[in-house]
Amino acid sequence: MATVIQAYRFALDPTPRQRRALASHCGAARVVYNWGLGLVEARLQQRRAGEEVEVPWTLPALRREWNRVKGEVAPWWAENSKEAYSSGLDGLARALKNWADSRAGRHKGRPVRFPRRKRKGRCRDACRFTTGAIKVLPDRQHVQLPRIGILKSHESTRKLARRLEQGSARILAATITRTADRWYVSFTVEVQRAIPQGNGHDTVIGVDVGVRHLATLSTEATVPNPRALQRSLRKLRRLNRQLARRKLGSKRRRITRDKLARVHARAANLRRDALHKLTTTLAIDYGTIVIEELNLAGMVRNRHLARALSDVGLAELRRQLTYKTGWYGSRLVVADRFYPSSKTCSACGWVKAKLTLAERTFTCEACGLRLDRDLNAARNLATLAQHVAQSGWETQNSRGADRKTQPAGQVAVKREPSSPLLQRA
Ligand SMILES: [Zn+2]
Repeated sequence: MATVIQAYRFALDPTPRQRRALASHCGAARVVYNWGLGLVEARLQQRRAGEEVEVPWTLPALRREWNRVKGEVAPWWAENSKEAYSSGLDGLARALKNWADSRAGRHKGRPVRFPRRKRKGRCRDACRFTTGAIKVLPDRQHVQLPRIGILKSHESTRKLARRLEQGSARILAATITRTADRWYVSFTVEVQRAIPQGNGHDTVIGVDVGVRHLATLSTEATVPNPRALQRSLRKLRRLNRQLARRKLGSKRRRITRDKLARVHARAANLRRDALHKLTTTLAIDYGTIVIEELNLAGMVRNRHLARALSDVGLAELRRQLTYKTGWYGSRLVVADRFYPSSKTCSACGWVKAKLTLAERTFTCEACGLRLDRDLNAARNLATLAQHVAQSGWETQNSRGADRKTQPAGQVAVKREPSSPLLQRA
């Protein structure tokens, strides 16, 4: 038995009054975050000017400062649970630590920027509760949160309730979030699970997520999008075109934007659901699963809908596989970001210089292979996995959660020594 941290997320059906309370808590968390950031900036200024002042850098220090002045800064503070203020200050303390660690070279990945102010309507509405009455009620239809009270769950809480009743789970925290106009609660739960050493399979499968299909497997199977998702994607394209026609700052633009946000949220939910079914099957039925690493830098502010959607799908696929391979005893291999899985010929290893997303078929100029682009990519990932399985070359990624590999040996990218990508890899 091992203890794992797991999240259970449920959509809520709050009453109008509860909606206001939820929004108020998230607003309070944002306000206190901005207040704390302002204080830190001011103290840093003073220190730079030569004054001997303490800069509140940790959650306890920030909380002390807050409790001293909250009566003046926010006379309404008693309207919300104290957890709202803790939540905001905790977020700030983490952001400051990440920035400091990054400056000191203790943080892997891209440099972390100094925290910036959160803007209403632009930032994520969220608030985390770590103490107080956090419960899943035995009727499996309601949850309880400090101050907000008993909320109706939109979906059954059966899965979590069952574990809580058996005593194999313990709730550590609850986070409320808003996506479009829907509220969710996510419970962070400590769960006792039997973790197997292996799942009895030594098979390897490559998975590539897409937009037209949910996923393409190296076994040549295509996993179709659920019909409801296909419909949502069509709606999304239409609304995106509509939004582009609307005048900036107009009322109609706002209406279209809200509509778009709702369809986006629904499409994401449908896709996540479908991916859950797929990843469970994969983690149970295959020994090794290979996916591509996500290009996080390229993900930010991408104007191309197709690219953005497949990035989101890939991130979700990886997230789910990371923990499910652990649960079921299979292995996850993440191909390096610079491994050109879709540009490499899966038959001879020739690498195409440029392949746009619109090109659905891969055509090899060296051996003449013509193949569906996603299938070609999935095959390359499976080949890479075979190679990794044979050489046993694995490295931990920054989170240490799964295994990652870099192109090596016979992998095609070696043939382009002048490639700028290779120099960084
Ligand atoms: Zn070829």
